[in-house]
Amino acid sequence: MIVTESGLWPPRYDPAYRPPPGEKYWDRPRETMPAQERDAVVLGKIRALMRYAWERAPFYRTRWQRAGLEPGDIRSLADFERVPTIQKADLRADQAEYPPFGSYLCTKREEIVRIHGTSGTSGRPTAFAWSAQDLAAIREAHAHVMWSMGIRPHDVVIICSIFSLYVGSWGALAGTERLGAAAFPFGAGVSGQTLQAISWIKQMRPSAFYGTPSYALRLAETARAEGVDPASLGLRIMFFSGEPGAGIPATKRFIEATFGAICIDSGSMGEVTPWMNLAECSERTGMHLWQDFVYTELCDPKTWRRVPFGARGTPVYTQLERTTQPMIRLISGDYAEWTDAPCACGRTYPRFPSGIIGRIDDMLVIRGENVYPSAIEEVLRSFEALGTEFEIVLSRRQHMDELDVRVEVAPGVSREGLVERVRAELKRKTGLRAGLELCEAGSLARTDLKSRRVRDQR
Ligand SMILES: [Zn+2]
Repeated sequence: MIVTESGLWPPRYDPAYRPPPGEKYWDRPRETMPAQERDAVVLGKIRALMRYAWERAPFYRTRWQRAGLEPGDIRSLADFERVPTIQKADLRADQAEYPPFGSYLCTKREEIVRIHGTSGTSGRPTAFAWSAQDLAAIREAHAHVMWSMGIRPHDVVIICSIFSLYVGSWGALAGTERLGAAAFPFGAGVSGQTLQAISWIKQMRPSAFYGTPSYALRLAETARAEGVDPASLGLRIMFFSGEPGAGIPATKRFIEATFGAICIDSGSMGEVTPWMNLAECSERTGMHLWQDFVYTELCDPKTWRRVPFGARGTPVYTQLERTTQPMIRLISGDYAEWTDAPCACGRTYPRFPSGIIGRIDDMLVIRGENVYPSAIEEVLRSFEALGTEFEIVLSRRQHMDELDVRVEVAPGVSREGLVERVRAELKRKTGLRAGLELCEAGSLARTDLKSRRVRDQR
């Protein structure tokens, strides 16, 4: 326990606390504090965290020493921009050298109560260790955020995502339980389970849903195939992470119209859990950055200094309340734009008004133009005549990049002039000529977790 300028670190929460009924905020003073005051709180936590990590984590100490820094040098948030950034590859390499949790493990092994990790699809998997203190911090952060989405103790929250290493499901569960709502950890990924989900939803009438946007679209299709209108299922709030879809305006409108529920975007990275540090409130004006749980800097990807509000950059995360493997200036690899314009909810956290625009790795370079798949998705979803799934195929013909889009058509609609209209809109929004193939509804691949909608054959 470290004494800071603004209290003890790590903070202790009363696990029995709940806001009074009718209260709009989980913690009104904290959530509505003027930005400058919050900066002082954040700085106090950063200083305590850096002292803590300096004493326990050679991973950080050696990096900071190399940069000629020690925790006492950080006297302002501007000073903090000089702290070296770290990348996922650094975590992987450090765990290979110091297995299994790396030399950034700051607690004793016996304090670990939960192990998660990455899927390992892009190399050696990385292990995440959570202590009881971490779990309490995750629960607390997610309860704050889910309260801001409008979830209350009388709600039943169905969690339709895989319960495995993937931390998304567990974070939604932790927040639901702390908030006092009823959790229904339904899961996903088992054959026939989507059909079962429909019958369970009809039976239990959950009011809130968590999953990926792709899964929600699949759930809607399955319901309709059973003669059930998805809007009749009674869902009021649907919150998502794992894919950018819920932050893409046309996809958000589509999900809201289909289910008659509000569609909320959330999520940063598994390493950063509490990953709901980025999340929309019930106003849905873009994800708030819950800066006093995880401090997010939007940075220039060359200098790793913060860009001004209104500019675009890469999020860099620092967990302020985690003790096991604290992430200090972890680069996300995403792109976003940020603003400090007020939100109607009254919270003073800055926002990503357009969500996560894309991942640096996802950016497609086609004939020299930079395009994110989310921009193509936005165009396709704006056509009611198009169905729920699509695929982007990149190929090279006679040394030229070719972009082909295969998209399903909604059942029973006229295809007349549709190809021309969609192609014209793609050209207008992305600047690219695309081949377009209309496919039968239900003919393209579906997935429970994250959709892979891009095939690059170049
Ligand atoms: Zn808000």
